[in-house]
Amino acid sequence: SVPVRTICCIGAGYVGGPTAAVIALHNPHIRVVVVDRDQKRIDAWKSRHLPIHEPGLEDVVRIARDGAAVTRRRSDSPTGDTMDPARQPNLFFSTACIETIKVADMCLISVNTPTKTRGVGAGRATDMAALEGACRDIAMHAKAGCVLVEKSTVPCKTGQLIKDIMEAHRPGVVFPVLSNPEFLSEGTAIRDLMQPDRVVIGCESTISGHRAAAALANLYAAWVPRSRIAPIGIWSSELCKLAANAMLAQRISSINSISAICERTDADVGEIAKSIGLDPRIGPQFLKAGLGFGGSCFRKDIASLTYLAESLGLPEVAAYWQQVLTMNDFQRDRFARHVIATLNNSLRGKKVAILGYAFKKNTGDARESPALDVIRILLEEGPKSITIYDPLCSEADIKRELSVLERDYAVSMPDGPVEVVSDPYTACANSNAVLILTDWDMFKNSKPVIRSSKPSTIAETYDGATPTDVLRLKANLDHVTINKPPTPPRTPKLSPLSSELNTRLLPEPPCPADCIV
Ligand code: NAD
Repeated sequence: SVPVRTICCIGAGYVGGPTAAVIALHNPHIRVVVVDRDQKRIDAWKSRHLPIHEPGLEDVVRIARDGAAVTRRRSDSPTGDTMDPARQPNLFFSTACIETIKVADMCLISVNTPTKTRGVGAGRATDMAALEGACRDIAMHAKAGCVLVEKSTVPCKTGQLIKDIMEAHRPGVVFPVLSNPEFLSEGTAIRDLMQPDRVVIGCESTISGHRAAAALANLYAAWVPRSRIAPIGIWSSELCKLAANAMLAQRISSINSISAICERTDADVGEIAKSIGLDPRIGPQFLKAGLGFGGSCFRKDIASLTYLAESLGLPEVAAYWQQVLTMNDFQRDRFARHVIATLNNSLRGKKVAILGYAFKKNTGDARESPALDVIRILLEEGPKSITIYDPLCSEADIKRELSVLERDYAVSMPDGPVEVVSDPYTACANSNAVLILTDWDMFKNSKPVIRSSKPSTIAETYDGATPTDVLRLKANLDHVTINKPPTPPRTPKLSPLSSELNTRLLPEPPCPADCIV
């Protein structure tokens, strides 16, 4: 296989940073340099405060970037523990993209591939600008034979586009292109990278393609059993990432469609999910009715799939997957309107608290949160205020996401209708409703106080220290509540008050009737 001594990972985001860190951790003899044009992001990766929050990430970075000593369990040691001497750092972060590309034997392309917002295919097609930019840099500066690895999620046949860019700049020079889609989930990225179900490596059926694939497989084989490393064709590999996300999202939309029927029939969607999940052909995962899926990937990947299907002259296929998105929008819309109806169809003069903004727990990623759609619908009713608390999403990130509402609602103004606060008490104080929109453990309760007659939403009322007339609605998960101590993330931003949630916010609650949904 191709010898690999230096890897350049282009893109220091949610995929590039953790993936490069885990590769470096397990391949101490290889130099891994993560590059990004974003100086602030690179500075953060070099600092003690990493730009993204993932359980376990700090430990991996500490060892690979800083050369920290590792404690290993050893069965032959009397205590069971032994300390390996500190290793040489082999993980670096830099904005020197070109210089790093020049010396790399392999480039992992982990740049953003969002949905196009304007022009042909706007709203559905993938915006390939960042990927094309990275490929141009590689084409102009990489050593001949450098292996190019697509880690970004891309439309099927992107490998051909990359080859065309290479050929245009460096005619006749061989740059093997591999597809190695990333299946990690935010919030469990390190676990997913350390113990992947599978590592898919797609290559062209040429000698150079197979040699390149073997080199990448060898990197993974440092910690992943060979049986989980799946070599497949490059086009299948590109498409399998879109297909995987589409299938996962489709399950969420499917159970949410059932929840809508439950709410009109007194059937309980939780009971249904449990019983159908016992069928091994169906399985229990991704069957939680709630607000629908969010995050930076599912929507854009399904949009990309529908666009691909349409471009290939398959409108029925496009319509099939489009319906998964339609159902997702329907669920959020239904939830928000349900809140409004519960508050007597008017939010005038009322305060709504939102606990949790991230699209799921254990991530500080504020992108594409279902909360944004809920907030948009609530704002139409002119509430006095909407106050948001999230333990990890920064105020700046939330405000940046909310800026799409700026024109209509001046959300960035200090006296605007939306406020982001740093503790849950301030958020809940004097609220007419508390909506829990992220499945953070700190909001979890194994015993909802009121199970509503509309089973896909659980409502619960309580009068805590300050909140009056508080309504909480289930959003993303089975049993949302606040009666457990919070599990602080590794880099906590929790206020000292948060531990009091346990004792103060959830006494056995009285249940004012107007709060029951
Ligand atoms: P991100 O936006 O967090 O990070 C991308 C980074 O690439 C940014 O920091 C950007 O500055 C940098 N970049 C863009 N063009 C560059 C260039 N030419 N040179 C140097 N840096 C450049 O994105 P992400 O969430 O890490 O996602 C990256 C890709 O991985 C996407 O295709 C996404 O669909 C896919 N993916 C994401 C996840 C996830 O959970 N976030 C999971 C699997 C796959």
